[in-house]
This record gives sequence, C-alpha cells and structure tokens, in this order.
Amino acid sequence: TEAAGTAGADRPFDAECLFCKIVSGAIPAEVVLDTPRALAFRDINPQAPLHVLVIPKGHYRDVAELAAAGGGLLDELVLAARDVAVEAGAADKGYRVVFNVGAGAGQTVYHTHAHVLGGRGLTWPPG
Ligand code: ADP
Repeated sequence: TEAAGTAGADRPFDAECLFCKIVSGAIPAEVVLDTPRALAFRDINPQAPLHVLVIPKGHYRDVAELAAAGGGLLDELVLAARDVAVEAGAADKGYRVVFNVGAGAGQTVYHTHAHVLGGRGLTWPPG
C-alpha cells in the first residue's frame, strides 16, 4: 500500500489500516493472545461461539504476502490459532482456520488475518 511505512518495531505498517490501528492500540479490541509478532482478538461480528482473528503485528495484505515475507511468521499465526482454540476449549472437537484472500473470497480488511472458528459444528463447504 502507498501509505505503508515502518512503525517503531521495524515491521511494515500502514497508518490507514484498521488492524494496524488495533496493533498500535489506537482502536480497542478484546485481545485474547499477545506475542511479540502476533495478536489475537475477538471478531466484532462473531460467526461461531469462538471467532477470533489472529494477525501478524506487521502489515501484510494477505496470507501469500505474509508467507513470502518468510521468517516463520505464518507458522507463528497457525500455532497462535491452535493456542487460541485450546484455550477456548474448542480444539478437541475441531476448529477451522480461514484466510480469505481477495474481494471475491470476502476479504474486506487488507491486513492478513486468520479467522479461528469453533465451538460449534462446522459444515463444509463454507458459503
Ligand atoms: P469479512 O468481513 O467478509 O469476514 P475478512 O475476511 O476481511 O472479511 O474479515 C474481516 C473481519 O474483521 C470480519 O469478520 C469483521 O467482523 C472483523 N472486524 C472488522 N472490524 C473489526 C474490529 N474493529 N474489531 C474486531 N473485528 C473486526
């Protein structure tokens, strides 16, 4: 993004980005997990009893850009998603980790985020 720069912590940052504002604390969120490079917080419009978003603190528009950046960031998100599901008691019955990529898939916030969904039966395919 044009506005992308680098915040204090030497990671990509977009001053216009909603989730960068959550990382910086400018916009509040119900945080459930906070690590040096990742943040997990409750989705404001939950689609399941457990619906948490896990994001890298750095700004990457989608999961492919995150993976391309390397450094184990994507692995950290997947492991954070597991920790969130375990902590919520949702891991035993199964949970879902979803990355929507692009508008046609429903991506509305272009700061990559894993949706962690659980706490109820989940059907396939999703809509
Ligand atoms: P979609 O809106 O189709 O789910 P995304 O995959 O881009 O698209 O997901 C963005 C998610 O961010 C949505 O589930 C939405 O409810 C959530 N969301 C938007 N604003 C906030 C916020 N301020 N705090 C927490 N979650 C938010």
